[in-house]
Amino acid sequence: MRILVTGGSGLVGKYLQKILPDAFYISTKDGDLTDIKFVRWMISSYTPDVVIHLAAKVGGIKDNIAKPVDYFEDNILMNTNILKVSHEYKVKHFIGILSTCIYPDVVENYPMKEEDMFLGPPTPTNFSYGYAKRCLAVQIDAYNKQYGTKYNYLIPCNLYGEFDNFENENKMHFITALLHKIKNAKDNKIELLGTGKPLRQFMYAGDFADIIKLVVDNNITESFNVAPDFNYSIKEMAELAIKAINPELKINFSNPELDGQYRKDVDNSKMKNLLSNFKFTSLEEGILRTYYNE
Ligand code: NAP
Repeated sequence: MRILVTGGSGLVGKYLQKILPDAFYISTKDGDLTDIKFVRWMISSYTPDVVIHLAAKVGGIKDNIAKPVDYFEDNILMNTNILKVSHEYKVKHFIGILSTCIYPDVVENYPMKEEDMFLGPPTPTNFSYGYAKRCLAVQIDAYNKQYGTKYNYLIPCNLYGEFDNFENENKMHFITALLHKIKNAKDNKIELLGTGKPLRQFMYAGDFADIIKLVVDNNITESFNVAPDFNYSIKEMAELAIKAINPELKINFSNPELDGQYRKDVDNSKMKNLLSNFKFTSLEEGILRTYYNE
């Protein structure tokens, strides 16, 4: 089976390279997926049976607020090109990767199920990224309806891991930024923005790569949320990391207005039905692995 992975140089792509070593991995060094000519060349040259579409324009809150057009257009173009050309070249299994950012900012009942996607607009801070990713779900469902394909998408919660970007503070995800602060702490204290109260589901990115491989190996064509059961507050996660790495450290919370969305946890029962034996890495183990292997 010939597998092509877009976004192969990113956080998830690097874990996939370890467990699917024979797949083809594409990054911006090979070409720009917003350019349909490059995408046609790529699919016609590699002739994949399976496309795992990880590539996306992904960034921190500040950049999302500053450049909403880029986050919308780059993602819409990449997704449209790769899906259209995969269908043209009769790719059998296309797996799109979404994000829990597609879900409404607020709903009445948590955790959110897959069918809650359209209950309201995504959170304002990454509105255009969230909508562009939501459109990929619409687009994949539309291909399945119009052409009878069995393409699907996975909706992962926040990710972290040792292959995350530890260099660029503007691009760091929360756990990476937290570990970066713990490593560089001065006077035995770290500063965190907000109140520490918002709740988040975090998954070790290596677990997500394992789940993608299971989806390919078992030819699973359903679309579903991917998240562990735990939904900790920011404060609980910070305390857990400090206890595991340097119990001397104290946390100072500042700028309570920067809390962001209070919660966005998703329901994982569909995933559990499909992959009943899957065991997630605990947050403590994942944090230690990330901290010491980075
Ligand atoms: P990442 O580390 O930001 O990597 C993004 C990948 O996309 C890189 O390989 C990048 O190539 C490639 N890319 C970006 N723009 C491109 C373009 N115009 N043409 C070709 N390639 C392009 O992403 P990730 O964290 O692995 O995330 C993988 C997927 O999971 C994404 O779809 C993301 O939206 C989703 N997701 C991520 C998280 C998270 O917390 N990280 C959470 C939920 C969902 P270069 O390396 O060459 O720039």
